Amino acid sequence: MQHVRDCGAQLFIISRKGGTLLAINDFIYRSNLKRFGPLGDKVYWECIHNRSKKCRSRLKTIGDDLYVTNDVHNHAGDRQRIELARRSGMLIYKKFSAIGILTH
Ligand SMILES: [Zn+2]
Repeated sequence: MQHVRDCGAQLFIISRKGGTLLAINDFIYRSNLKRFGPLGDKVYWECIHNRSKKCRSRLKTIGDDLYVTNDVHNHAGDRQRIELARRSGMLIYKKFSAIGILTH
């Protein structure tokens, strides 16, 4: 498991459907932002192709720390979708600890 301590601002995609999407290394992860753990600061993220392609890549964040539980994807990255979001002004930078107050 990879552990990245105290991440800076991360790239999020504002989704029209109201979900919160995280872009890392051309891959996109989705979370319902449900909080777990004793401090309520643990959030789970799964690849957006979890259902359609049964991709098992997943992450978790605890505060601003990122834990890569599984970084093996069974598909190519989503660079085009991220670029499209960038051109549409749908990308925002926030720290993990600030995503509870994402504005849509
Ligand atoms: Zn994947």
